[in-house]
Amino acid sequence: MSILQEKIQLNNGTAIPVVGLGTVTPDDKKPILREVVRAAILDAGYRHIDTAWYYGVEPILGEVLEELFNEGKVKREDIFITTKVWPALWRNPQKSLDKSLKDLRLDYVDLWLQHWPLTFKSDENGQPPVPRDSSGKVIEDDGDFLDTYKKMVDIYKHSNKVKAIGVSNYSIGNLDRLLKETDVVPVINQIELHPQLPLNDLVEFCNKHKIVVEAYSPFGSNGAPVLELPLVKQLAEKYNVRPADILVNYHTASGRVALPRSLNPDRIKQGYKKVPLTKEDLTKLYEIGEKEPKRYIKEDWGHHIGLPFWD
Ligand code: NDP
Repeated sequence: MSILQEKIQLNNGTAIPVVGLGTVTPDDKKPILREVVRAAILDAGYRHIDTAWYYGVEPILGEVLEELFNEGKVKREDIFITTKVWPALWRNPQKSLDKSLKDLRLDYVDLWLQHWPLTFKSDENGQPPVPRDSSGKVIEDDGDFLDTYKKMVDIYKHSNKVKAIGVSNYSIGNLDRLLKETDVVPVINQIELHPQLPLNDLVEFCNKHKIVVEAYSPFGSNGAPVLELPLVKQLAEKYNVRPADILVNYHTASGRVALPRSLNPDRIKQGYKKVPLTKEDLTKLYEIGEKEPKRYIKEDWGHHIGLPFWD
């Protein structure tokens, strides 16, 4: 079986494919996204797409998905689709969800995440998505980020529009509060994770509470610096695969979901091979970030969340 069709169980009984297609897309690359998604689903066999209101690509994804469903190439129930609520819409997650569903041309999403444990002072339509004052500082609202999750719980319990809910960019402190104050354990915490940023304490905390960890920016984001690590290249040679296969298997072999992104259709078509990484290979990969941790996504709004290695 291709690694793209492997699934793991979530704490609410649903299952998630262990590799999802990342969809952050710079504006100049948006025209190619259609081709990338078609190649991902039809040629490589992807069955999981990770997107968000904030990425501005949901209308494009909606068109492609509708096309694929109408062509009978794939069924809705065979594709796992995630979207997220941005902090600018923290007061009204229902509005965020309805907009995403309309743009995606779907009746439901498989997974709905709170994108960041933050509240931004934007208008009722979430504009501007990242409000800043004249000195460039992000303007946060005085709300409680957990209110958004509580509203998401309500929507999850009382509608058929989301099959599961979860969070993203939550620290141990944020999760601790959530577990004490709400009665739905998130199925997922989506965080930056790769050999240079193993975040063992947060991952252990999630494992203990049956929250599956999803790894975003698994290649270190733009320019894919983590693919260049000597050990990653050595392991790729040892197993006769690409460095990208090693980084995806680093997560899947550890019970996590990986969300790599490529806007190169040739790369996408190749999918990802399953690699029999040994315990020793994994230990060495973990040691890289345990010795010298490095975070690549350091958005200025995230520094006070309590996630490590932001400075
Ligand atoms: P990734 O870590 O997936 O890296 C993307 C980069 O890797 C691109 O420059 C891509 O270039 C390059 N690349 C991909 N495959 C290869 C390959 N085989 N060889 C060489 N280079 C390669 O970046 P992202 O930051 O986009 O993270 C992935 C996804 O995670 C996002 O798209 C999004 O869905 C999610 N995410 C979620 C966040 C959150 O806050 N919840 C934050 C950030 C990301 P090319 O396109 O040319 O192939």
